[in-house]
Amino acid sequence: MTCKIALSLIEPYLDGELDAAQKAEVEAHLDECANCPAAYRRLSELGTDLRTLAPRYAAPEHLQRRVLSAVRKEARPRQGRRFQPSNASALAASVLLAVSLGWNVKLLQSQRHTMGNTTAEVAQDIDSSHVRSLIGAHLLDVPSTEQHTAKPWINGKLDYSPDVKDFATAGFPLIGGRVDYLDRRPVAALVYKRREHVINLFVWPSDSPVAAPEAANGFNLVTWNKAGMNYCAISDLNQTELRQFAGLYH
Ligand SMILES: [Zn+2]
Repeated sequence: MTCKIALSLIEPYLDGELDAAQKAEVEAHLDECANCPAAYRRLSELGTDLRTLAPRYAAPEHLQRRVLSAVRKEARPRQGRRFQPSNASALAASVLLAVSLGWNVKLLQSQRHTMGNTTAEVAQDIDSSHVRSLIGAHLLDVPSTEQHTAKPWINGKLDYSPDVKDFATAGFPLIGGRVDYLDRRPVAALVYKRREHVINLFVWPSDSPVAAPEAANGFNLVTWNKAGMNYCAISDLNQTELRQFAGLYH
């Protein structure tokens, strides 16, 4: 193993992401190389420092797991190939940081809004799901320019039928949808556009309206409850236009 390869594998090694054979190769190289052990120590110490600081920014464990697995899934090479060093770890770290910061913001806001635990969790799920959909390929499971394609597809995946509407004439075209996971259940995520802005609209059945903050992590949120369904629109679109979009659904 060359130093170049060894260095690229140190991070995944520290993260426990290598298979046994790769692990052994890295360890053998660290034993015999004069230079790489220094890099190993630096990265290992950096990891310890980050963990020491972590409590200030810690996202809940279930969220970390989901973000990491989502990012790994996106970054994973096609089947049959071994782990390729990539920017997956860096990407995962930055996404986690963004998500945890957002979560902390919401935690503060949740005290103001006296949100229950469940509601806070849902709001934070919505936020991370929106972020995930923007960075990954998971924006659309069913691309659609008309609700006739999206509606049956989404309804076929869920045990409820969300109202799938297109507002292209009002300047909010439906571009598709996907099934996402929120509040420990699969939910519909309808994807709309307003100019270059993406709007994720989450729809799921619930009698208790979700009390999400109006803004978090640089995104605006508008939530409402209608006919036993919770709706949450999240976007980097300005609050006024996001409310206009919500108004179309009412
Ligand atoms: Zn080396």
